[in-house]
Amino acid sequence: MQVQDVVVVGGGSAGFFGAIRVGELAKMQGASVKVLLIERSEKLLSKVLVSGGGRCNVTHACFDPAQLCTYYPRGGKAMRGPFNRFQPRDTIDWFKDHGVELKTEKDGRMFPVSNKSKTIADSLLHAASMAGVEVQTGVSLQSFGRDAEGQQGLRLECYHHSEARSFSILTKTVLFATGGTTGMQKILSEAGITVTRTVPSLFTFVIEDERLKDIPGLSVPMAAVNFSSQSYGHTTPQQIGPILVTHWGLSGPAILRLSGWGAYRLAESGYRDAIKVNWLHPKSADEVFDVMQKLRSDSTFGKRIAVANPAFSQIAGRMWRKFVLGAMIAETARWTDIPNRSLRNLAEHLTGMELAISGKGVYKDEFVTAGGVDLAQIDLRTMESKQLPGVYFAGELLDVDGVTGGFNFQNAWTTGWIAGGGMFERISADN
Ligand SMILES: Cc1cc2nc3c(=O)[nH]c(=O)nc-3n(C[C@H](O)[C@H](O)[C@H](O)COP(=O)(O)OP(=O)(O)OC[C@H]3O[C@@H](n4cnc5c(N)ncnc54)[C@H](O)[C@@H]3O)c2cc1C
Repeated sequence: MQVQDVVVVGGGSAGFFGAIRVGELAKMQGASVKVLLIERSEKLLSKVLVSGGGRCNVTHACFDPAQLCTYYPRGGKAMRGPFNRFQPRDTIDWFKDHGVELKTEKDGRMFPVSNKSKTIADSLLHAASMAGVEVQTGVSLQSFGRDAEGQQGLRLECYHHSEARSFSILTKTVLFATGGTTGMQKILSEAGITVTRTVPSLFTFVIEDERLKDIPGLSVPMAAVNFSSQSYGHTTPQQIGPILVTHWGLSGPAILRLSGWGAYRLAESGYRDAIKVNWLHPKSADEVFDVMQKLRSDSTFGKRIAVANPAFSQIAGRMWRKFVLGAMIAETARWTDIPNRSLRNLAEHLTGMELAISGKGVYKDEFVTAGGVDLAQIDLRTMESKQLPGVYFAGELLDVDGVTGGFNFQNAWTTGWIAGGGMFERISADN
């Protein structure tokens, strides 16, 4: 029987941050604290390694906790307190103290200067080793409960995969940092922990529409998108940013963010919905109409073929052609041939194109799980369960999820760091 002070379940960003925090606090205060991290797979920090296209978008350059909360479709309000304690500035300092410099890109996303997610994973592995954290891979938590003898508080039932054996661990505290997987749902609900309904978030849209056919790879740098109607009782804010045409529909930051805000309404509709795209944001239909009217009356431009001569540089040539044909303007029409009614229709098309979503993309670009452990059950000052003393939670397992841009890792860093501090306090108080 193993006996520990702290067991962290899950070898991802949140688990490592929590384990390192306890180990470092113990070291700083000269306390002897046994910290064990178990990970069911053979790979540690696997999501960190694949994240951000192999570059790891560690956090976002947003340093006002109140503003930071607005990037979380779920859990944002509740995270105000935790972000006051550990926010992106603290993440930057933490990595700097552990030998990693971060840089900010134009859109606010922050990456390691090396542009390699391995730099982040290596620094976490090194910090864990320096903090005296013991790591065991290939070990799954299967169930947990109170220790009947009452000595250590909690009893974890685990399974060692390569040795094909079950074993128990007694521990004073446990941190659940098992990510968005549904595998933990049964274990948690058996212990009386409420898990809200989980659905996917941050995915691309399948759209079968002639106007998007045969132009994969083309993108618009600043478009605006929202659902055509605010139905299903969920209000979603308009999303502004790049939109990318793919082989199967639409992707890009603005689409991923909308999928986050609309995660539940999309799940309820079976991923059948409709969006409206303004490809020329921030221009209105009237402004677009005025610009095109002027171009049409230009003695040189007006004589040109409309499908082959875009009126706006942000729409690439092949995309423009598709959109103009989609507005029922003839392939041979010159600008001067287009009557006002058709020009108005084209302006409406470009600034409010209705597109039907027929499914959810399968490419897991920056996929996260919406829903998770109900925050009302957690003391957010320590991340400890209100009804199960000694049990802590961090990361994507929580009912917190952010939009794309580094916000999901920030949730993992913040809650992992706070949980680590909470566990250390509890152990210190018990000793
Ligand atoms: C492809 C991809 C790219 C991403 N890129 C970014 C990005 O650039 N920036 C960003 O902010 N977010 C990104 N995300 C989201 C981000 O990776 C996650 O939100 C974050 O990793 C969550 O961390 P976590 O520690 O809570 O969970 P995870 O990283 O999922 O770690 C949980 C671990 O727990 C283990 N586990 C589960 N159950 C058990 C059990 N019973 N016993 C033992 N171990 C168990 C799992 O095997 C897993 O290793 C990306 C996600 C994906 C899928």
